[in-house]
Amino acid sequence: EAVARRVDALVRLVPDYPEPGVLFRDITPLLADGPAFGDVIASLAGAAPGGVDLVAGMEARGFLLAAPVAAHLGAGVLPVRKAGKLPGPTASASYSLEYGQASIEIHPTTVPDGARVLVIDDVLATGGTAAATVELLQSCGAHVVGLAFLVEIAGLAGRSRLGGLPIDTVLTVD
Ligand code: 5GP
Repeated sequence: EAVARRVDALVRLVPDYPEPGVLFRDITPLLADGPAFGDVIASLAGAAPGGVDLVAGMEARGFLLAAPVAAHLGAGVLPVRKAGKLPGPTASASYSLEYGQASIEIHPTTVPDGARVLVIDDVLATGGTAAATVELLQSCGAHVVGLAFLVEIAGLAGRSRLGGLPIDTVLTVD
């Protein structure tokens, strides 16, 4: 539909970034377009079935989307950070990258038991980041009600790693 077409037009394709063979989707032109950004936030906010207590965003581009979506919904925002950035006490989850491992962390005291959480990021690629985020939130007692992404790269099958949770994407590409 219209919002998806606008996202498609405003996401810049960058070949061989950050390494050879990767086609990177640069969302900064979309972020810089006020009306398009507003439409995207409203669209992502529509992914919250039955209301949420918290919107979790993955560092760093997820923060740019999760915070306005949370404000739009009257929910809190939960930064999911790369290891070593939060003062703690933290809860963490590790996941595999193409080369090596990464960890993400949250402050579990900011997640009330049973809190309804919507997870947001800019791009769903292999799903490793999102799967680790879901696992981390669930291990802290959260109820993950769904995930929403600006762009889903369907060919990488990230969706299959998310345990059948509801997933909303503004734009799906191959
Ligand atoms: P995954 O863990 O699903 O393989 O990768 C998703 C994570 O990497 C997200 O946090 C996302 O921000 C980042 N990412 C992967 N590919 C791209 C891309 O092409 N464009 C942007 N903007 N982020 C990407």
